[in-house]
Amino acid sequence: MMPDNNQSQDGEPQALIPHRVAVVGGGLAGCECALALARAGVGVTLFEMRPDKPSPAHETAKLAELVCSNSLRSEELTTAIGILKAEMRELGSLVMLVADETRIPAGKALAVDRNRFADYVTAIIEHEPNISVLRAEVDSLDSPLLRGFDAVVLAAGPLASDGLAASLAEAATLEGGDKRLYFYDAIAPIVSRESVDMEVAFWGSRYRPEEDDYLNCPMTEEQYDAFIAALIAAEKVEPREFEKAIHFEGCLPVEEMAERGRLTLAFGPLKPVGLPNPRTGQEAFAVVQLRAENAEKTAFNLVGFQTKLKYPEQERVFRMIPGLEKAEFLRLGSIHRNTYVDAPAVLTGELELAARPGVYLAGQITGVEGYLESAACGLWVGLMLGAKLSGRELAPPPVTTALGALLGHLRAKPAKRYQPSNAHFGLMPDLNRRAGKKVRKELYGQRAREDFARWLESRAAQ
Ligand SMILES: Cc1cc2nc3c(=O)[nH]c(=O)nc-3n(C[C@H](O)[C@H](O)[C@H](O)COP(=O)(O)OP(=O)(O)OC[C@H]3O[C@@H](n4cnc5c(N)ncnc54)[C@H](O)[C@@H]3O)c2cc1C
Repeated sequence: MMPDNNQSQDGEPQALIPHRVAVVGGGLAGCECALALARAGVGVTLFEMRPDKPSPAHETAKLAELVCSNSLRSEELTTAIGILKAEMRELGSLVMLVADETRIPAGKALAVDRNRFADYVTAIIEHEPNISVLRAEVDSLDSPLLRGFDAVVLAAGPLASDGLAASLAEAATLEGGDKRLYFYDAIAPIVSRESVDMEVAFWGSRYRPEEDDYLNCPMTEEQYDAFIAALIAAEKVEPREFEKAIHFEGCLPVEEMAERGRLTLAFGPLKPVGLPNPRTGQEAFAVVQLRAENAEKTAFNLVGFQTKLKYPEQERVFRMIPGLEKAEFLRLGSIHRNTYVDAPAVLTGELELAARPGVYLAGQITGVEGYLESAACGLWVGLMLGAKLSGRELAPPPVTTALGALLGHLRAKPAKRYQPSNAHFGLMPDLNRRAGKKVRKELYGQRAREDFARWLESRAAQ
């Protein structure tokens, strides 16, 4: 089924534009994508399953409903998320336009009135002549609803309906039956290398001391016991009703391991064996390992530290780890229900499913994490596909920009299991110069703004 456009806002019949793209999911990514396509003159049918088929977290029938916090985070250009916002504004982002119109006071953060925000986005999308909104669930990639379109964009989010997720799982299965669609996140915090105290931490991996993929933070027995006690006592995020069934075995939250017994962690991820401290020649009582997140080793994750501790508690408790007293957290840990694919393994550089040409993914389902990141990804797919369907090519912005870095994450094959990511400086190339934390953030911001401006100029010249 491929509807053509019907009437203009004043009721007059309009020139018919064939609907060439189906966007599945009227969330942040789907709405951004649909509008970018519509502005490029591409007709879009946007499928949204609510209200007939509710999701476990959405409460309304509105498009672009914010399912939890109403904060879109920092506005500052010394943060990756602040830079991403600036870039999105320059690309004509719907989410940024509406967020600016519906913002409410929240200090240096951008927070919105969630109802006005979703109402406003819904109105813009529903009044856009090149978009038709169809309230229907697309329950499979082979659904008859998707027939006849030149391209399909799946933007069904972290809670994509079961049928669609099963069908996507099939398309995201590699040869040999290796499934690359996941249903929950178990994310460990990431710290910047610059903020690790190198008087305390040391390089080396178990049994291969010369290797510098790992940094190690040694703990005495006393430090370990204090840390375990703090982990157990710390405040945790309560799982939502639909998250209670998540089976964590094999990927237990670090605090739950601590609760299983005093030495569970010391015999598990904090095992000191094979990691003598080169300063003493001795093995410590326990060792927290930090694994490099990128080739340049500017960012390190805490191995085995997937957690449900509240964010401020993570910063407080994890700074008890020797060497991390002044840690700068580029990302904090979490464990939650999330449907996403292993993007580097199953998507092309244009976020098209390798196994299903013509089907693109956008938003959280690609492995970006967060409202803004999802919206930015949707916006990018809309711009890129709009250009492609008009016979042009649009290269992504450089990885030194916030959007380019985020898209880079979707292309970079990880050493371990692929994990979703929000926007952070660890995704950008190193500055290759030493500077204090504050100056470094400013430099990252400056470089990103300059490179993005250059990219915009080159795009305009095309
Ligand atoms: C419980 C929960 C809390 C969260 N809290 C936060 C937070 O506080 N801050 C933050 O930054 N991020 C948060 N996130 C992540 C957040 O959901 C995403 O960042 C963002 O909403 C993703 O945007 P999206 O457009 O990819 O997906 P969504 O916004 O979820 O949009 C997907 C849309 O697709 C529709 N859909 C699903 N399946 C189908 C189908 N088969 N057919 C048709 N339509 C379908 C859904 O109804 C939905 O409208 C949270 C996620 C969850 C699950």
